[in-house]
Amino acid sequence: MPYAEGKKLLTYIFNLELLWCVLGPGVGIGIYFLTYWNWNSLPSGVHLADESHRSTDGRFVAERALYDLGALTSRGPRVAGSETNERFAVDLLHGAVATIARAALPEYDVTYETQRVNGSYILDYEDYPITSYYRNVQNIVVSVVRRGSFSGKYLLLNAHFDSAVTSPGAGDDGTMVVVMLELMRQLTQTAGSSMQHGVLFLFNGCEENTMQGAHGFVRGHPLAQSVAAFINLDVAANGGREIMFQSGPNYPFLMAYYRDHVQRPYANTLGEEVFQMGLVPSFTDYETLSKQGGWPGLDFALSSYGYLYHTALDARETISAGTLQHIGDNLLGLVRALSNADELGSIRDHREGTAVFFDFMHLFLVYYTETTGMIVNIVLGVLSLALIIGTLFMIMRKEGAVGTNVLFEAGMALIVQTLSIVLGAGLSVLVAVIFDACGRSMSWFTSTWLLFGLYFVPCISGLTLGPFLYVHFRKIPFLHDQGRVILFLHAQHCIYAFLLITLSIGGIRSAFVLLFPIIFYCATTIINMIIQFRLRVWIYVHLAGQLVPVIYFCTLTVTLFAVFVPMTGRSSNSSNPDLQMALFSSLLALLLVGLLTPFVVLFRRKLFVFGTFLLMFLVTAIVAATPEGFPFRERTSPQRYYIFHQQRNFYWPNGTLRDSGAIYYLHPQDRHTPALLQSEVPEWSAARLLGDECERELYCGIPFYINRYHRQSGSSYWLPAVEPPIFPEQVIFQFVSRESPAPGRHRLFFRVQGPSHMSLYVSPLAGRKLVGWSFSDRIPPSGKRWNGQDVYFVNFFSGSLDLAPFTFYIEIEQEVGTGDSHFYLSVVAQYMHHDTVYRAREFQSLLNKMPNYAHTVAYPGYLESWIF
Ligand SMILES: [Zn+2]
Repeated sequence: MPYAEGKKLLTYIFNLELLWCVLGPGVGIGIYFLTYWNWNSLPSGVHLADESHRSTDGRFVAERALYDLGALTSRGPRVAGSETNERFAVDLLHGAVATIARAALPEYDVTYETQRVNGSYILDYEDYPITSYYRNVQNIVVSVVRRGSFSGKYLLLNAHFDSAVTSPGAGDDGTMVVVMLELMRQLTQTAGSSMQHGVLFLFNGCEENTMQGAHGFVRGHPLAQSVAAFINLDVAANGGREIMFQSGPNYPFLMAYYRDHVQRPYANTLGEEVFQMGLVPSFTDYETLSKQGGWPGLDFALSSYGYLYHTALDARETISAGTLQHIGDNLLGLVRALSNADELGSIRDHREGTAVFFDFMHLFLVYYTETTGMIVNIVLGVLSLALIIGTLFMIMRKEGAVGTNVLFEAGMALIVQTLSIVLGAGLSVLVAVIFDACGRSMSWFTSTWLLFGLYFVPCISGLTLGPFLYVHFRKIPFLHDQGRVILFLHAQHCIYAFLLITLSIGGIRSAFVLLFPIIFYCATTIINMIIQFRLRVWIYVHLAGQLVPVIYFCTLTVTLFAVFVPMTGRSSNSSNPDLQMALFSSLLALLLVGLLTPFVVLFRRKLFVFGTFLLMFLVTAIVAATPEGFPFRERTSPQRYYIFHQQRNFYWPNGTLRDSGAIYYLHPQDRHTPALLQSEVPEWSAARLLGDECERELYCGIPFYINRYHRQSGSSYWLPAVEPPIFPEQVIFQFVSRESPAPGRHRLFFRVQGPSHMSLYVSPLAGRKLVGWSFSDRIPPSGKRWNGQDVYFVNFFSGSLDLAPFTFYIEIEQEVGTGDSHFYLSVVAQYMHHDTVYRAREFQSLLNKMPNYAHTVAYPGYLESWIF
């Protein structure tokens, strides 16, 4: 190639467009990593050796909390009902509390006891309500009050020490348990600090099994009456910083205390709304304490990267001193302040309104009442619209264009901008559908960065394409290109303003996120109006105004993906998780670059822009198809399986056996089940869907631990088992007697004995009604009906290793018809914390074939189904 031609080619390639195509994404990625680093930076843990130093006086000591965590998790899983939970953990915590009480300064009165409680309550879940019945649940309750200044009111702190099946529960909820112990130490060792109210520490021994510990405290403990407010501490992750994601309901003063006394705030109204709308399928003690106790509270949780949550890998080694220090520092300040808050003395006077709150880069918390939020949003929304109209007038005057032409162009810009958003989201969704159809969903599960190439880039391309095509194909003489960019930016601003006003009126507090682009765009627009949109200069003014919104939306992206990506590994196989991520990414992409993409119009060689997008997408798509895009990793992000070995016996009304057999039941938790398992373990190729078994038998004849597993019965699998399961404790179920308290009423008495975790399914035949039973005073609503019959589910738990027989009754009213049979009754037992020697050989050999990236929860279950 001749020299001159080569030089021409080089100048063609190295131009301003290329610079921007490198600089733009570069700056964006740079800001993203900066916010990520900021989010990831935790304080270094205070050591025991530092304690005597004056600088750490009265500070939370992470090292001691870590020692406690080592001790608590040393015996493996602490499933409620198991020896490790009911005896070892209870004794350990009791001992730790006793030591703290002995070392407390004389000005503090520390009293403690192990509460053993029975009770029942109804969890009113849609389609799958649960009647939760429990015996001998254990809680350790510690009261710390300052002698001579005790108001009689308490601030309650709650954390559960039981763990999920197979999990040592170092994160969930061991972290918060040891944080509470260390808080207790620091509070009782501080001389001369004032403390009006008492602090009540509830170490609750049963949360994972339908939150019975918290309920037992609320309903069964005398000090519950003196609680004024509470802080719930739970975990769905292994480290990172704790987020305060729920407060109230009402009582905004709690947020004011959080703002003023927490060192490194991390809180967001968005989290609260997502949770309260039920968009996250999770239930914690917070609901129990808030609804059953009627107390206002704050809900804290570790929630980032919950890949190991509820697995055997949730071990002590995964918890850093930095995490404990972060939680400890934040809580110590808050608890000290709240234990002195006048509001707790007259809590009912401080009910008013809900709050809008969010932190900025964990530096400070912004908090205002919902009413203030409404006024701010409407005022700014209206100001935005006024500025848009003002700018249009300026354009008309300055450019000398006809008013109607300018208005028409502004309208067209709005339409084009809206269509671009739809196009961008559409492109992302298309990618999601294609990847899922090719069996490549969740490629971003471990390598989350793939989301940017796969879903952000297509959306940004769509957003860019609209303005480009419109300006390319429609030339207008009265407006230069920069003016047309202004119209597109205003169109985007108009969309934000419209959304802000509508969402605010609709009572969505999370609308506050739109304040970032709106406030800064209004500010830069005012400056630009003053300088009369001087050519080129206005662009830099506008770009400067994008910095803070981009930083904020980067922090939001970090949090949302850290929380929601791992959740897709514990949902179901029936919906496409890529679709969810595509929509998420589109929304975030819009917020991040919605006020930048129209600048494409000013590029002379648009090819570079779209070429860059295409390159980024293709590179990511190729990487996604390599092992890097395989969703699961052995130790850090395993694939979750539930595989249960179940014996099922069905009886005729006369008591003879109708059907009997053993199966392996597979409950899917992600999009790749069972396809991936079938490709690795040939036995599972013979797996069948539950299918018409669900019409034939109550709850498909499956011994479900929790009835909502039934929601996925259409996509759950089973395999016939040759060997029956081995049961450490047999279920002994007997019909005892029958009486008729009134005409048409039948009360039947039964006796049952079995393991700690049992359930009962009750379903009256057509024309019959459940009118009474031993499990609750009021009859709960029926769950999802089966063959036209009401269905009731009882979760029956026995703690304290006491498995004494239990006698109960069921009373049915016969409305119409005759016949001797009245209802179906299934008795279910789960053996979830027993030694693996109780696994049958065939079951164990099936489990041995699981791939190394699988984390399998596997235990025997039992069901017997009767008609009485
Ligand atoms: Zn938990």
